[in-house]
Amino acid sequence: MLGVVETELFIGGKWVPASSGNRFDVLDPATGDVLAAVADGGESDAIAAVDAAAEAGPAWAATAPRVRGEVLRKAWELMTERADELAKLISLENGKALVDAKGEVTYAAEFFRWFAEEAVRGEGTLATAPSGANRILVTRQPVGVCVLVTPWNFPAAMATRKIGPALAAGCTVVLKPASDTPLTALAMAAILAEAGAPSGVVNVLPSRSSGKVVSRMLQDPRVRKLSFTGSTEVGRILLAQAADNVVNTSMELGGNAPFVVFADADLDAAIEGAMIAKMRNGGEACTAANRFFVEASVAGDFASRLAARMAALKVGPGVEEGTQVGPLVNEDTVAKVDSLVRGALDAGAKAETGGSRPEGPGFYYPPTVLTGVAPDSPILREEIFGPVAPIVTFTGEEEAVRLANDTEFGLVAYVYTGDLARGLRVSEAIEAGMVGLNRGLVSDPAAPFGGVKQSGIGREGGHEGLLEYLESKYIAVNW
Ligand code: NAP
Repeated sequence: MLGVVETELFIGGKWVPASSGNRFDVLDPATGDVLAAVADGGESDAIAAVDAAAEAGPAWAATAPRVRGEVLRKAWELMTERADELAKLISLENGKALVDAKGEVTYAAEFFRWFAEEAVRGEGTLATAPSGANRILVTRQPVGVCVLVTPWNFPAAMATRKIGPALAAGCTVVLKPASDTPLTALAMAAILAEAGAPSGVVNVLPSRSSGKVVSRMLQDPRVRKLSFTGSTEVGRILLAQAADNVVNTSMELGGNAPFVVFADADLDAAIEGAMIAKMRNGGEACTAANRFFVEASVAGDFASRLAARMAALKVGPGVEEGTQVGPLVNEDTVAKVDSLVRGALDAGAKAETGGSRPEGPGFYYPPTVLTGVAPDSPILREEIFGPVAPIVTFTGEEEAVRLANDTEFGLVAYVYTGDLARGLRVSEAIEAGMVGLNRGLVSDPAAPFGGVKQSGIGREGGHEGLLEYLESKYIAVNW
């Protein structure tokens, strides 16, 4: 069914079995059936991967930035040529609808193109010290060996968003993909090798013992950087582990995005934006709108129109033509969504559409809109990570900002209003790393992506994304 897809570890430019010989199954979320068995990397494999990355490091750091950029550019070309087969692979192992998977391949490939262009922009500075006594020369150097840990929800894009800037900066990497979706990461490794990344520059280590494997690598003093995308819960554990060797960290963690609609908004645009912000990737996105705050005078109209649009979506296997919403990735995810919805309904919410898990195989959950959600419901506190839109009403700007900020997360927020001054004022007041102002999509490889509060540390994409993989070296010079 899968054709030629690598299933071994990728270490030092070679496909190798796990030293234990163990393998683990990757499941098809549409059926629960086994798609493939992948080599299960252990601690000794992790150290072999760090050995390979450390050995390749000096030569890669010394490779001309233009040449590094050309490898990334070639990887963009290969991904673009093979977009259809990569999308199918993503859809098979993650479950997302093919249309979302195709969108992901384009987005993921663009990180390679963007960082191919950024590779030549690791510029430094030269200044005269305020005292006039010396010059301040600042150059940029690659951080060194990087451990990259990625989630299952965007198996290609979360990998390229890290590998792109790391390679552009002259770093070498060990990627530990999510164990639900290792096949896409292995396909990325093959593409980078074909694009000319020398042996050891990119290593990929699928593993079912992620905790042990990552912690073993963080104990190795050759590892100088950890870039993690995943839950805040695991992020906290890794920040603590990184403290032992004072490892440089970038953290892209959970979100709880507010989607604020003022009564003066263009309601058609707000509904379009809501569909994208909620339903891109079937709701399995850290940027997914998690709490809808709608000004009371338009809330009824907004809720009925959103419910009609959500009810009309076609749910089915991701790879089937015409599917708009695929299954969720696994049983735990669908069980969590179901329990959050049931909690809200028990506390008095009403399901305008959806609201209960269907019978039958696969990890499906129907597009759901809830109104009358109690303010203290867990569904407004936790990441839903599924196709559910809880709606809460508000009156006035002050209440909207207070509700939006009532969370420990701060990744992204969406604001819809016809008054630009209000839009900018509210965008400034909301505690989030990113705001979509009259827009339901913020992700762009050329823009700095990241969160404040417990949504993370650092930025990916844009020029900031490159700087995360560079150290500034200051040389005080007399001449
Ligand atoms: P997760 O459970 O935190 O897992 C993320 C990665 O960490 C996976 O590769 C996982 O491996 C690994 N991992 C799990 N426990 C670990 C441990 N103790 N030590 C080291 N590594 C460990 O998150 P997820 O469920 O895959 O992804 C969903 C989360 O990612 C959501 O919270 C979402 O908001 C967040 N996310 C954030 C962004 C962003 O840019 N801010 C983007 C996408 C997703 P296994 O698969 O083997 O468990």
